[in-house]
Amino acid sequence: LKQKDGLFLAFQPKYNLARDRLTGMEVLVRWIDPELGFVSPAEFIPIAERTGLIGSLGDWILHRACSQTAEWRNSGLGDLKVAVNLSAVQFRDPDLVTKVQSILAESGLDPAALELELTETMVMDDAEATETTLRALRDLGLSLAIDDFGTGYSSLAYLKAFPVQRIKIDKAFIDEINDRGEGGQIAQAVLSLSHSLGMEVTAEGVEHKAQVAALRRNRCDEIQGYFYAKPMKAAEFAAFVEERKRL
Ligand code: C2E
Ligand code: MG
Ligand code: MG
Repeated sequence: LKQKDGLFLAFQPKYNLARDRLTGMEVLVRWIDPELGFVSPAEFIPIAERTGLIGSLGDWILHRACSQTAEWRNSGLGDLKVAVNLSAVQFRDPDLVTKVQSILAESGLDPAALELELTETMVMDDAEATETTLRALRDLGLSLAIDDFGTGYSSLAYLKAFPVQRIKIDKAFIDEINDRGEGGQIAQAVLSLSHSLGMEVTAEGVEHKAQVAALRRNRCDEIQGYFYAKPMKAAEFAAFVEERKRL
């Protein structure tokens, strides 16, 4: 699996509200098929999972994401932190921790600059096994985030028990904040719950100014969405970051 198969990575900037600056990015895989054209990862990731292709695809994504980030950090682009999505199949792979460890070593990326995104459904599946895996990943020095929070079966007890550093509030709850900044009670509740458990919060799919204001008022740590920036190809992302450094 490589670039020539029509696969590449897109990078979506993440913006820290309190620090008023770009602090990192999420990696989103892209596939442009010669015949089908653009295919959404929401469509092809589940297929890759069913066909067993996710192993090599997931390794490729993580490897590319880590080497690209290490390269940017080393060239002085900034102290960037990269977030990479893991699929359920990857998460259940008994070799996951060793794989992540060797990818970090090969790419030379500081483990503290890597965050892995997992979904609720993935981590709630087998709580005991999950906790062991999460601790082993944490021991590598990276951080963990729960993606699409609020859309699956969230067990609040596990949320407290698991060594997770970030909650990403699903776009559905950000959409509820109207153009006067009203609504979004679920987002507010998730923010206060996460903060009281010592976790940081990222709002996903932020598209409007009023949402930013409301999230800022509720001390949301980070925003991600078209309001700030869309996912971009590597060169475009680097130029975006460079541009912001001069502001
Ligand atoms: P996700 O991880 O929750 O990623 C966020 C999705 O929201 C991305 O869609 C992103 O392009 C989109 N998005 C960001 N900001 C906005 C906004 O302001 N408005 C709207 N409408 N959308 C926004 P994308 O890239 O199509 O990815 C969809 C899902 O596919 C991801 O959801 C993730 O679950 C999965 N995925 C993407 N890349 C990877 C990957 O490298 N590995 C794995 N395992 N899954 C991936
Ligand atoms: Mg994600
Ligand atoms: Mg999400």
